[in-house]
Amino acid sequence: MANYCSNCGKQLPEGASVCPSCGARVAGSAGVQAAPVIVNIENNNTNSNVNAVPAVGRQKNKWVAFFLCLFLGFLGAHKFYEGKVGMGILYLFTGGLFAIGIIVDLITLLFKPTHYFVP
Ligand SMILES: [Zn+2]
Repeated sequence: MANYCSNCGKQLPEGASVCPSCGARVAGSAGVQAAPVIVNIENNNTNSNVNAVPAVGRQKNKWVAFFLCLFLGFLGAHKFYEGKVGMGILYLFTGGLFAIGIIVDLITLLFKPTHYFVP
């Protein structure tokens, strides 16, 4: 089976990869045939934020609670702010659980997201 140049139409020698008459590359010859490029740009990424805090309850601002706790923690102000009235009263009468509750709450608040939710 003879090959013919797709550019100039002349018969090509067996196994030629370039036409000797015009210099065009011969389609289908082993030497120059480019491997088929399979482009797979299908995007299977699914953005699922596992760190998302479920938006249930009352949204509170971390820094409001933090500074309430820092300055008025002995009155239980941050507990009242979070709507935890019972704990607030307890803090009010015990001086923030004898200051231990204040310290624990300050540390706990620091690790909360800026907007956290109180169920
Ligand atoms: Zn040719």
